[in-house]
Amino acid sequence: MNSIIQLVKDKDPVEREFHQAVSEVVETIQPALDQNPEYRSAKILERLVEPERVILFRVPWMDDQGEIHVNRGFRIEMNSAIGPYKGGLRFHPSVNLGILKFLAFEQVFKNALTTLPMGGGKGGSDFDPKGKSDNEVMRFCQSFMSELFRYIGPDTDVPAGDIGVGAREIGYLFGMYKKLRNEFTGVLTGKGLNWGGSLIRPEATGYGSVYFAAEMLATRDDTLQSKTCLVSGSGNVAQYTIEKLLDLGAKVVTFSDSSGYIFDEAGLDREKLDFLMMLKNVRRGRVQKYCEKYTDAVYTPVDPALDYNPLWNHKADCAFPSATQNEINAKDAQNLVNNGIGLVSEGANMPTVIEGIDIFLDNKLLYGPGKAANAGGVSVSGLEMSQNSMRMAWTREELDERLKMIMKSIHKTCLEASDQYGATGNYVVGANIAGFVKVVDAMLDQGLV
Ligand code: NDP
Repeated sequence: MNSIIQLVKDKDPVEREFHQAVSEVVETIQPALDQNPEYRSAKILERLVEPERVILFRVPWMDDQGEIHVNRGFRIEMNSAIGPYKGGLRFHPSVNLGILKFLAFEQVFKNALTTLPMGGGKGGSDFDPKGKSDNEVMRFCQSFMSELFRYIGPDTDVPAGDIGVGAREIGYLFGMYKKLRNEFTGVLTGKGLNWGGSLIRPEATGYGSVYFAAEMLATRDDTLQSKTCLVSGSGNVAQYTIEKLLDLGAKVVTFSDSSGYIFDEAGLDREKLDFLMMLKNVRRGRVQKYCEKYTDAVYTPVDPALDYNPLWNHKADCAFPSATQNEINAKDAQNLVNNGIGLVSEGANMPTVIEGIDIFLDNKLLYGPGKAANAGGVSVSGLEMSQNSMRMAWTREELDERLKMIMKSIHKTCLEASDQYGATGNYVVGANIAGFVKVVDAMLDQGLV
């Protein structure tokens, strides 16, 4: 185990998030390696941590003042053992190769858990859409796609959204792909409803994370009714996490953006959520503005001098980190435990550092790791691909039912694998081993490629 982690560190010493994602998986799969000695002789771990292909390209674009900018574009085609590469595009200034490799690596196992035939990939750019005009975003997306189109396709690699890439960006990207290829295919998911998109896709990640939480609680004969919940983020995942929590009778008291967070002790309701959605999706504003309308709510700006995030330091029952990676450090994890949190369901990818996960597990929290709890988004993306291939569309009710069934099945798979490998109730072990075995067996079937 240690030699694989060391190998990854030696090869790419600066890719910290990738090291973290590999360590988290590798440290939990020992029982599967012990039961299957052929995995070792096939050098399966060495093959899994090396992307099948990495594409890195220049993205030049012009702003509204006529000034030229140059960003970097990436696509990591990580593993195609069980289907075409599938995973989102992230536009955020922090994007680099290490972050995208961690996301692509996680995606491989997550996609395997969904039961749908999808390999793992991820991509994006260090472009920051914040504060850019629609025309600037369009020119950037067109330039990005004018290179990426060579490598993707409905049976090869099917990107979707992620941080900074929503319906607007997917529209511009799709338009350019269609023009360059002269074909109308399901090459991207997260499309607009009237041109090939799927109902429930925008809601799927947030709803799925709440469905997963409900399944975890059911193992202790409990429900989300009247639970007080902390949510971080205010983008796609956070908004629909809040919506489903309200539907199920929970009380949500926090949300955030990268500048600060809101604590609304009275709890959000439908009207407040509508305002938040309008603020973020239409006005593209900051969460601080929420307090101008709801004056009892408190806004706390990010304080770089603090070594913890005060959002995670409120009394509550459940936590739904839905913003970004490593947003819960060890101190935050301890604060959550001290404040009585009994459940954490990760809408974001890898939001908790490894030491934080250990604190959750040591304290017997119901802890749903991102690769299981947030798999609802890519699951409905898989259903969007099916609908596109069949040239048909399921109803909202059908899709929500399928999403629920998939989340139920992912939960069951993780629980059963945790049981089989001697770690009952540990969803980290369950998710990692179940995803790992499925992908690795497919790799072995397909020979040394
Ligand atoms: P959005 O861009 O819609 O929203 C991201 C939210 O997180 C915003 O509120 C943003 O604040 C905040 N945020 C981003 N970066 C940081 C940071 N460095 N520090 C603090 N806050 C930050 O993205 P999504 O909601 O789609 O994605 C959120 C998380 O969920 C990510 O980890 C993503 O990988 C994961 N995920 C998303 C899926 C999807 O279907 N969209 C599927 C599975 C996982 P600000 O506005 O200030 O940038």
